[in-house]
Amino acid sequence: MINIVLFGPPGAGKGTQSDKIIEKFNLTHVSTGDLFRKHLSEGTPLGLIAKKYMDEGNLVPDDVVIKMVELIIEACIDCPGVIFDGFPRTVNQAIALDVMLHNYGKKISGMILLEVDEIELKKRIMLRGKTSGRTDDQDLDKINNLIQVYNAETYPVANYYKSQSKLNIVNGVGSIDKIFDDICTIIDHLSD
Ligand code: AMP
Repeated sequence: MINIVLFGPPGAGKGTQSDKIIEKFNLTHVSTGDLFRKHLSEGTPLGLIAKKYMDEGNLVPDDVVIKMVELIIEACIDCPGVIFDGFPRTVNQAIALDVMLHNYGKKISGMILLEVDEIELKKRIMLRGKTSGRTDDQDLDKINNLIQVYNAETYPVANYYKSQSKLNIVNGVGSIDKIFDDICTIIDHLSD
């Protein structure tokens, strides 16, 4: 079983690359952002809790996110592998994920960090907001907040995996196919 954390700031291309990775490596995609958007569109209590955080570009509280992921892991523990996209986003979430996987005798194989500079990120998020209707993507203050939250609360997660010698960095600027090739090289190596 290969379990990957696909990591990077908002707008780094995690969703685009996840689609290609799951197709090639037959992994289950766990995107907490997608799960929250699904709850939101179905009007579930969890969706209502998440909405006020998402609308401001803030993180949904750890206990809410962790409970949601626990249920998903339980359901797909026999899959060939999982790609975590947008999770973990805090060191507490990363620790909780290690504990959850450990309880099933599993672990994270590696983290892949897509590196993209801030100017490029802002351009991409604005563009995404125009086409996707994602409410957190349409206003400059919120975009700045998304990036600030990433730097303050989420980036430390990379150091958490670095301390476990699991951090792999990929340049996230360039053609989608070239970035995908670089990611595949890392995944091939992880599954050795
Ligand atoms: P994403 O699609 O991954 O950019 O997520 C959209 C929004 O969902 C984020 O801005 C957060 O408000 C919320 N969210 C998604 N994943 C998490 C997470 N792991 N921890 C906290 N909030 C999250």
